[in-house]
Amino acid sequence: MSIRFQIEASNGAGRLGRLITPHGVVETPVFMPVGTLASVKGVPQDLLEDLGVQILLGNTYHLYLRPGVDTVRGMGGLHGFMSWDRAILTDSGGFQVFSLTELRKVHEEGVTFRSHLDGSSHFFSPESAIEAEIGLGADIIMAFDECTEFPAERERVRASMELTLRWAERSKKHFEEHKRRVPWGTSAQHSALSIQPKRSGESPADADRSVRAPQKIGKLRSPGQTGAAVPAWAGTLPTTGATQSLFGIVQGGMDLELRRESAERTVEIGFPGYAMGGLSVGEPRAVTREIVESTLPYLPIDQPRYLMGVGTPEEIAAYAALGVDMMDCVLPTRAARHGLLFTSVGKVSIKQARYANDAGALDPACGCRVCARYSRAYLRHLYASNEVLAQVLNTVHNLSFYLDTMRRVRHSIRLGEGTGFLSGVSSQPKP
Ligand SMILES: [Zn+2]
Repeated sequence: MSIRFQIEASNGAGRLGRLITPHGVVETPVFMPVGTLASVKGVPQDLLEDLGVQILLGNTYHLYLRPGVDTVRGMGGLHGFMSWDRAILTDSGGFQVFSLTELRKVHEEGVTFRSHLDGSSHFFSPESAIEAEIGLGADIIMAFDECTEFPAERERVRASMELTLRWAERSKKHFEEHKRRVPWGTSAQHSALSIQPKRSGESPADADRSVRAPQKIGKLRSPGQTGAAVPAWAGTLPTTGATQSLFGIVQGGMDLELRRESAERTVEIGFPGYAMGGLSVGEPRAVTREIVESTLPYLPIDQPRYLMGVGTPEEIAAYAALGVDMMDCVLPTRAARHGLLFTSVGKVSIKQARYANDAGALDPACGCRVCARYSRAYLRHLYASNEVLAQVLNTVHNLSFYLDTMRRVRHSIRLGEGTGFLSGVSSQPKP
């Protein structure tokens, strides 16, 4: 058992929990910033720590292409490579490959696709995707699935759902057989997890395979360097059996009945957590919500539930209130790079001329370091001048806004309050 999930309070369907991973505790409901290429674009890791990020997401497809799984594995996995000793989740690459509409071909065995970087041909199967995810070494990894396109005929959605279920079985089988090859071995001696005694059935060969301690990691830190830059476990020998945790993914398109069936059969296969995938693929927002609401009752109440690829600030708050525990989305980081900033009074497009002489804070109600220090006029100038700092500051604010939104959600669940504050969370354009 390499994660534990504890529900500490609930209010209606919403629940406050602690997801205990081999790399620390994640308070849920949580919004996970996306660090596609082992980097949350523009924001260094120490700043992410200051913002209170407890888990971030990496994309297997992108990291597989560049720098390559072997490189990351050789550096101790993503934790060692990007010097991040808190929790990480990787997707399986299924969604990214799915988005390469013109460059992929799906077979029973897996997906052949062409790299968006150089057109080279590659193949992902459930086995090879899980192998890549083991090499990347995230705490939570995702089963390889087919993300059904939208719109799609019912028969097509059913066939796709069945394929995802077969791939889920294969993903789990490969993971169970190879999970001891995780590059951080068994770092849980320094983690929030209690130290588990080695299982009696474990052979010396198993233990050997788990010894992939990242010897090179120690060299990343020069003498006297302090801080959380280098994981405390770097170079230590494993003593426990902590491994990654593989989550299953519910598909079924926009069909409520197929979603229910997919949920029930995925739960039957058995995973320590479940995601709802194949949403936010162009369907109306009301449909997304209907699918989520109707699927949640079929997912185990005592395990983490992850809604992939959602959403705006008011959506993440609303889904948390419905009982979703984990969410990720590129929206706050991508929008920030385009000068779109989420605030307590709506969305601000900082490039607008109206802000050119505005000495006010971006969002007076925001406690982030950007709002505390800089004016709208300065942020507008940085953006208009295409300064790198514009991307950094805009991203820091948007991430702060998302993380604060989830803090407020957790606080309200703990206090047993309703979600009345949701009316204050808006991504409508600022009037
Ligand atoms: Zn701010």
